[in-house]
Amino acid sequence: MIIVMKPGTPQAEIDRLNREMENWGLTPENIVGRYKVVIGLVGDTAALDPLQLQEISPWIEQVLRVEEPFKRASRQFRHGEPSAVSVATPEGNVMFGEHHPVVTIAGPCSVESEEAIVETALRVKEAGAKFLRGGAYKPRTSPYAFQGHGESALELLAKAREASGLGVITEVMDAEDIEKIAEVADVLQVGARNMQNFALLKKVGAQEKPVLLKRGMSATIEEWLMAAEYVLAAGNPNVILCERGIRTFDRRYTRNTLDLSVLPVLRSLTHLPITIDPSHGTGWAPFVPAMAKAAIAAGTDALMIEVHPNPAKALSDGPQSLTPEQFRQLMDELAVIGKAIGRWEKQPALLP
Ligand code: PEP
Ligand code: MN
Repeated sequence: MIIVMKPGTPQAEIDRLNREMENWGLTPENIVGRYKVVIGLVGDTAALDPLQLQEISPWIEQVLRVEEPFKRASRQFRHGEPSAVSVATPEGNVMFGEHHPVVTIAGPCSVESEEAIVETALRVKEAGAKFLRGGAYKPRTSPYAFQGHGESALELLAKAREASGLGVITEVMDAEDIEKIAEVADVLQVGARNMQNFALLKKVGAQEKPVLLKRGMSATIEEWLMAAEYVLAAGNPNVILCERGIRTFDRRYTRNTLDLSVLPVLRSLTHLPITIDPSHGTGWAPFVPAMAKAAIAAGTDALMIEVHPNPAKALSDGPQSLTPEQFRQLMDELAVIGKAIGRWEKQPALLP
């Protein structure tokens, strides 16, 4: 349930309502919009009558029931206002959200060597990426496949972060690793295979770094948003959703089916920012540029793209990785669409 306050409501009245709601055993969450404050109520609101609730203050404009099972994640919970996730990076805060330029995250599937990760970081940065991605801990289908270099790869990510100034996004598979990963990473990634690992979701929700939550390969949109709700309910408001393709029936020509329809659908359901990963979404490098362009045209807030200096030699996901040169070229093409829709970061004016 949400209480929409009238514009100009005195803070003392909002505080009074918050206390009153707490006395009723509810958890009020204040969302301060441009013109209005919305008090989101979490808890057992089933017995409350919105009309009666409206009577408790003349400053209440409207009381609405949130119909969706996801409450904090729902767009209605913020009375239609999108949220922006601000991520601190070595070169300042980067905003993910509907009213901000598209953010690009690029890098290899796995962190391999210092030389490769630093080179990749510098080259994707030059092309316009804001974040370096790269797995230290890899979820692999086979226990005999490369599992990632683990802790030593975190040190390499830290070096690449320092050398490039890029923010770092890397996957957490085990709650026990959160602390050491959070020392290096600016965003913690929860991978598709762990989207419904509720114990892990609660743990990443109880720490402060923003979370990139990938869609499970067979997850419905509702299940995905309920997974986001776990993180939000545990106290972390900074969740970025990432569509990475879902499992359908064609395994021969594409690895997954990239569901770009989530862009308009999620927009109507949630205030959370959205990222599209066309690399895992298609599984093949030649298909990545078209889907990246389509994602920007359809309104994505961010893109996550796998880039490797030598895809043929990559220890994981080589076939879907672009070379740094291909990535640079793609960024030039994306800029055309990004500028046309007013969502491309303005380049600093060149010095004379
Ligand atoms: C990845 O980003 O490298 C990865 C393993 O992704 P997903 O969880 O989407 O498969
Ligand atoms: Mn990968």
